[in-house]
Amino acid sequence: MSTTPSREDFDRYMVPNYAPQQVIPVRGAGSRLWDQEGREYIDFAGGIAVNALGHCHPVLVGALKEQADRLWHLSNVYTNEPALKLAKSLVERTFADKVYLCSSGGEANEAALKLARRYAHDTFGEHKDKIISFRQSFHGRTFFTVSVGGQPKYSQGFGPVPGGILHAEFNNLDQARELMGDDTCAVMVEPMQGEGGIVPATQEFLEGLRELCDEHEALLIFDEVQTGAGRTGKLYAYMHYGVIPDILTSAKSLGGGFPVAAMLTTDKVAKVFTLGTHGSTYGGNALASAVALAAVEHIDTPEVLEGVAKRHELIREHLETINRQHGVFQEIRGMGLLMGAQMTPDYEGRAKDILPLAIEEGMMALIAGPNVLRLAPSLVIPEEDISEGMARLERAIAKLVVKG
Ligand SMILES: *Cc1c(COP(=O)(O)O)cnc(C)c1O
Repeated sequence: MSTTPSREDFDRYMVPNYAPQQVIPVRGAGSRLWDQEGREYIDFAGGIAVNALGHCHPVLVGALKEQADRLWHLSNVYTNEPALKLAKSLVERTFADKVYLCSSGGEANEAALKLARRYAHDTFGEHKDKIISFRQSFHGRTFFTVSVGGQPKYSQGFGPVPGGILHAEFNNLDQARELMGDDTCAVMVEPMQGEGGIVPATQEFLEGLRELCDEHEALLIFDEVQTGAGRTGKLYAYMHYGVIPDILTSAKSLGGGFPVAAMLTTDKVAKVFTLGTHGSTYGGNALASAVALAAVEHIDTPEVLEGVAKRHELIREHLETINRQHGVFQEIRGMGLLMGAQMTPDYEGRAKDILPLAIEEGMMALIAGPNVLRLAPSLVIPEEDISEGMARLERAIAKLVVKG
């Protein structure tokens, strides 16, 4: 006999590495979700910047169903049509010549870091192994990627950390310059830090990193797992800056909710990943690739991308209005539909308290660190969902203010 699962089942059966909200959503359409009791929510969390086209978008459902009836998986002993189409499409739309497909952001970054190490090793020799990244950055949860990430709490307590990794302050070019040398293999950076608090890189910083990498024959890696696939209003955030990386990683929005990721690079770099050097059973899975192809083709259109910029402005206006009423934010920032509202010192550490209050009002949001409320809605969220969602957020924030 089966009973309806409950939130208590999480505590009973699942490893306690998450603390999910109390409600369990069971159905979604567009930017709305419904829980087990039929209560409705407007979704500004977007599965952590994943559901780029909302829930159950017909284009993605159609691609998934068509492929589901055709072919799911082959492994890399064979190639498959959706993977080939996806790789070609990404190459045609970006700086890249070659694509490596996998299933998650952490996996794409793991591949990027291994590729950079292998490239330096094979081209310049063993000494060139230093990887520079930035404090507060987030690059995934594999042991290499948490170590490169700039939040030590994620890599502590797991034994010896991989060596050759150096951290500088984000947006501080002088610090990066001091760490750079002939032994620098790669610099890994998010064009806008996501988990670290929605902090865009400055133009000078990314341009400067590009110059430093060229000077020291190091590779520049852009982690666009969160900023990529249309999230910032261009297909990739590097396109706003006009700074071209050697390697770029993409996941989250890329599959619109289906687990898929890609590492993009140039011919020059890709060639060191010779037969057998790296791989993944699921990488380039036919079902995942078919969905990602549909997502990319739908997102990379003027209609969707220009809509992202319009929605950004609309949400910013709403947040500013809320702030005029309640004075809880000290700064509203971000690019496209990855936005952050930094709490004032009076509400230090309180961003997370907004989330359950918003749930009570029928609105889902995120945080990015203790002091930033983060919004990452669907790139095609309807205007009426924005205004209704923001009205609900206003009520949640009013409750926060009353509580003090
Ligand atoms: C989410 C994220 C990752 C990790 O992606 P997973 O799919 O969770 O492995 C890596 N880098 C950035 C910038 C991210 O936002």
